[in-house]
Amino acid sequence: MLQKITNFRPPLHQIMKINSFEDYQRVYERSVNEPEAFWSEIAETFQWRKKWDKVLDWNFTEPRIRWFDGAKLNITENCLDRHLEKLGNKPAIIWEPNDPTEDHRVLTYKQLHDKVCQFANVLKNNGAKKGDRICIYMPMVPELAIAVMACARIGAIHSVVFGGFSAQSIADRIQDAECNIVITADGTYRGAKLVELKNVIDDALVQCPSVQKVIVLTRSRTPVAMIKGRDLWWEDEIRKVETQGNPDCPAEEMDAEDMLFILYTSGSTGKPKGVVHTCGGYMVYAGYTFDTTFQYQPGEVYFCTADIGWITGHSYIVYGPLAQGATSVMFEGVPTYPDAGRFWQIVEKFKINIFYTAPTAIRSLMSFGTDFVNKYDLSSLTKLGSVGEPINEEAWHWFHDNVGKGKCDIADTWWQTENGGHMITPIIGVTPMKPGYASFPLPGIQPVLVDEKGDEVQGNGVSGNLCIKFPWPGMLRTTYGDHERCRQTYFATYPNMYFTGDGCLRDEEGYYRITGRVDDVLNVSGHRIGTAEVENAINMHSTVVESAVVGYPHDIKGQGVYAFVVNPGRKDDEDVTRRDIIATVSRLIGPIAKPDKIQFVSGLPKTRSGKIMRRILRKIAEGDTSNLGDTSTLLDPAVVEEIKAGAL
Ligand code: ATP
Ligand code: MG
Repeated sequence: MLQKITNFRPPLHQIMKINSFEDYQRVYERSVNEPEAFWSEIAETFQWRKKWDKVLDWNFTEPRIRWFDGAKLNITENCLDRHLEKLGNKPAIIWEPNDPTEDHRVLTYKQLHDKVCQFANVLKNNGAKKGDRICIYMPMVPELAIAVMACARIGAIHSVVFGGFSAQSIADRIQDAECNIVITADGTYRGAKLVELKNVIDDALVQCPSVQKVIVLTRSRTPVAMIKGRDLWWEDEIRKVETQGNPDCPAEEMDAEDMLFILYTSGSTGKPKGVVHTCGGYMVYAGYTFDTTFQYQPGEVYFCTADIGWITGHSYIVYGPLAQGATSVMFEGVPTYPDAGRFWQIVEKFKINIFYTAPTAIRSLMSFGTDFVNKYDLSSLTKLGSVGEPINEEAWHWFHDNVGKGKCDIADTWWQTENGGHMITPIIGVTPMKPGYASFPLPGIQPVLVDEKGDEVQGNGVSGNLCIKFPWPGMLRTTYGDHERCRQTYFATYPNMYFTGDGCLRDEEGYYRITGRVDDVLNVSGHRIGTAEVENAINMHSTVVESAVVGYPHDIKGQGVYAFVVNPGRKDDEDVTRRDIIATVSRLIGPIAKPDKIQFVSGLPKTRSGKIMRRILRKIAEGDTSNLGDTSTLLDPAVVEEIKAGAL
């Protein structure tokens, strides 16, 4: 509990032990009444070269947000150096390759520290310096985490681009940030598929004159073109550093508000934005939320299945867990290769205690039945987490019953790239759970629901647009190179509030439930219905794997409900299934939410991070397929063609 930490530095791994829901309520209240005292106590648990002059300086109009102003630090000293004495020989990263017959790797804190320093020196040898932007386009191998932290070590700003993006998407991102170095690999395997990363980079760089150097890690031994003067092998560069005989790399001293990284959002709602996070506030928030949500205990083995190309990987594979001295498992492959038991095999192999994944993965694994889960010993698991989308109740129960065997809490963590870390989530072992509810805000977070006019909706049993009315250390500071876009997108809709873009309801007991993006709220005959609610109901139908619901113009109702449903069941009886789905929705939500149109599809258009691109489905439902907007972040464009062809 927070009271305990006022007068001493707590041991690592324990920023805040919350023992009961009453504890939570007390700490929460204090965080609202005395936010600066609250956050400075949390910040005290980190290592600073110099402490701050001012905890917080803010206005949401410009917006201008500064946390821990005047403080000096380097995040890698917090993630690596400060652990060396006590945890030097403890595994920091355990890495599992795509191919289960290949050996896994373990990097202790000492080894990771040394490799980060070594690669930081490689970057310096190649002219990198504080403030440079460096693009990282790599497979999920330890060298990705090493590259990320090597940038942070020397004060360069990393921009990680998920290793599945196309050349055009990478070029857009490199140009936007004017990166001068790219770090990549020859290739990687994702499931049975070879991804030729360096070839993609070569295509991208045709349009990127700012790039001077490309450092290429050997991973797949795919033949690649190496351009003289520009392209360098990772391994050769490490050897140079070794012969220079100076393995250490002192960390660059950073201001708390210096940029740490840029991360482009996945683009499910439009052109990707370069979200900017800064050194001090982001570090505090990533460490604090990891520690608090999961109530991490020393020795626990933690596995987050995200890719480091997404914010979840930044905050909850690299920075959060390492700041807290945890053991973080990193996986190169996919959940269904060589079969749908891969996650569970990894859980058994490393005796994972905390398992954090996404609803899209759970739903896909559900469709393979329970045999794969039951084949492995999952008794080590004690804590589960979900992130990225609303988790529908059926998936929640499947996860809880079959993976957690009914004995593990699930943290349904709601948050965004722009937030840096968890915002609304159950605290494991503390918050009584409600399936489908992200439940309560973490201490320090002040959510509000507002109506169309921007007035705060008070009390319980209400819904509205989700905003946050007070800053937190992990919030975005700007969108790279375009502060006006940041203001417009997040701070202009409602005065003095950060607008999340998500719709939300607060039930009679004060539990928060995310109902989907605000532009995904349907208005059917004057009733506001969240698409997530309808999807949840459709997914309850026994043969449905997943679904996406959008609105379309309807003469009578204003908006009609159009459902795209993945239903691998019997093809001969589609009308019967349609009827049953309608009955299911009617029963669970009410006749008002009944789909007007149900189109069966073999898959849904998703971003590479697994999110449904409703924007595209909305166009198709409206019958306007001429301009589908930016589709560069789409995982499988073929799905869109199929859906267009079958539109009702
Ligand atoms: P873009 O902003 O480019 O459209 P994105 O919003 O999909 O991309 P992220 O920042 O990764 O990119 O995702 C944040 C969004 O994901 C949230 O705004 C919310 O809609 C959804 N989300 C994340 N976690 C949850 C959760 N636990 N429950 C419900 N929704 C969630
Ligand atoms: Mg978003």
